[in-house]
Amino acid sequence: MVGESRWVSTAETVECYWGFNVSELKGSCECGEVTYLVKGPLRPTIACHCTQCRKTSGHYWAATQVPSKHLKLVKDGGLKWFRSSARARRGFCVGCGSSLFWQMDGEGTTSIGSGTLDDLPVGEASVDKHIYVADKGTYYNLSDGLPLFDGW
Ligand SMILES: [Zn+2]
Ligand SMILES: [Zn+2]
Repeated sequence: MVGESRWVSTAETVECYWGFNVSELKGSCECGEVTYLVKGPLRPTIACHCTQCRKTSGHYWAATQVPSKHLKLVKDGGLKWFRSSARARRGFCVGCGSSLFWQMDGEGTTSIGSGTLDDLPVGEASVDKHIYVADKGTYYNLSDGLPLFDGW
């Protein structure tokens, strides 16, 4: 099983994490060509309203984050990376279009679309703020009472 797994590669290195245990969560794209395991703790989810996130997701993108070494790709046949800016890339599934990951070069972390996680316990990785609100779409309002930031 381990031998069939792939590891998330950051900009230059491939990190391996061998300590997965019962605290791991599963996630996947919609069609199942990308599946992964992630080890907590998960950062609170941040909802990003920047133009890139809106174009990528079709609305706005909400993601948690972990050290990349805590993310294990179990099946990555559909995973493709798109360089979305000079310093970041986005991972999506070519089979179904799911927007799964975001990585900033050299940070060693991976943002994971919270909606791609399965069986996320209630209260885990809850949304705690909205960022790049200055770039948000004109067709919706934010009224959940969470902090709003024009930038990061
Ligand atoms: Zn897919
Ligand atoms: Zn964004």
